[in-house]
Amino acid sequence: MFQRLRQQQQTMMSLLFLCPRTGQDFTSCHFEIRENNGVVRDEHGAKTLDAKVVLTAPCPCCGERHIYRAADLSCPFAKS
Ligand SMILES: [Zn+2]
Repeated sequence: MFQRLRQQQQTMMSLLFLCPRTGQDFTSCHFEIRENNGVVRDEHGAKTLDAKVVLTAPCPCCGERHIYRAADLSCPFAKS
């Protein structure tokens, strides 16, 4: 019974990012949310998260630490 509880409890979640330098996409769980203003509605009434997502590890494509808008990511935070 207890062994079954070991099924992945993911505290780290991976997101798909697009490197603006190389145009390649990559997944990373090394990121953090900054300037989180919560979920807002855009002009179409769709919910998006108004926040910035900052890489906490260098981009595997170019080595920079990119900053993204949460709304630009395929974002699991703002699921309606
Ligand atoms: Zn990059």
